[in-house]
Amino acid sequence: MKIGIIGAGQLGQMLALSGYPFGLQFRFLDSSDAAPGAQVAPIVVGAFDDLKALRKLAGAVDLVTYEFENVPVAALHEMAATRPCFPPVEALRVSQDRVLEKEMFGRLGIPTPSYRAVDSLAELEAAVSALGLPCVLKTRRLGYDGRGQRVLRRRADVGPAWAALGSVPLVLEGFVKFDREVSIIGARSTRGETRAYPVATNAHREGILRVTVAPARAARLQRAAESYLRRVLDHFGYAGVLTIEFFVEGGRLVANEMAPRVHNSGHWTIEGAVTSQFENHLRAIIGLPLGDTSAVGHSAMVNYIGSMPDRDRILVLPGAHHHDYGKTPRAGRKLGHCTVVAPTAAQRDAVLRKVLRVVPR
Ligand code: AMP
Repeated sequence: MKIGIIGAGQLGQMLALSGYPFGLQFRFLDSSDAAPGAQVAPIVVGAFDDLKALRKLAGAVDLVTYEFENVPVAALHEMAATRPCFPPVEALRVSQDRVLEKEMFGRLGIPTPSYRAVDSLAELEAAVSALGLPCVLKTRRLGYDGRGQRVLRRRADVGPAWAALGSVPLVLEGFVKFDREVSIIGARSTRGETRAYPVATNAHREGILRVTVAPARAARLQRAAESYLRRVLDHFGYAGVLTIEFFVEGGRLVANEMAPRVHNSGHWTIEGAVTSQFENHLRAIIGLPLGDTSAVGHSAMVNYIGSMPDRDRILVLPGAHHHDYGKTPRAGRKLGHCTVVAPTAAQRDAVLRKVLRVVPR
């Protein structure tokens, strides 16, 4: 069976690598023939909204999936008419718009930050009055890794933030004074089977994920996160892996956003879970039984951002695994990651401290 993957970034590369033991073949669509996926499968080169390129990909494969959220829904719909496409295009459509996403969370009884959609400076002023300061102004669409957002702390921040972001539809969110951020990743197969991974704790800087620790070891949060995840999976009649990111505020989960795809906060599952998120995504979309999502120990994942660490100094650390995506270094760019797996949380934390000394920050 041949699977088409829209996007040939590191997520696509790791998806393909996990599928080869099943005898699957892969082809990517990406605007660059030098993307990380090029190391492991052919790339159809074209823009994500290039219908000709999408049709070429669809014509060469049995099934299409995506590793990248900003694929135009109209183009994907058109392609999905010719080849099965998972996760469902509707889940992608909702995830592309922070307001639609929050409305859906609300309908499913999943708590979110307070929010207002804003389309003018007057609406923004009114929303700031309603939600209070501080608050966070975000673009409704096409934001990722903290791009397209501003924290408003004083009234004087409103005008400049509007000037910086106001040319597109926005959403204003109440500022969540969270204790920490967590995510849950789970899969639902075309047969309707669902499984969830242990909740992971995530640390971000400048909006970019830096460190994930898993399992989070919080039984109550795990139950709540799994319940929310299942509601979303069932709502869409989903197939594939889905991620929901939450703030933990006063011991309660507040949903920030969802990603209808494999996720950076799940990289630890490659070495740290019985079945990786990548393998389970493939199992889910081709209708195989899902694999065990249990953790095999205690894991931590550290992203390499902007520059790579000395590989030897990572590899000598016990339980450390090094991943290099083969990208050209650039400030703020995810170039690779390291996952540490240890038998106990204390041992994991001891190695993690050493990794953090080696990884450029
Ligand atoms: P996002 O692009 O929505 O994932 O936001 C990137 C990061 O900004 C999050 O991981 C948080 O650390 C922070 N952030 C986003 N929204 C809020 C909010 N409403 N309150 C507090 N911090 C936020």
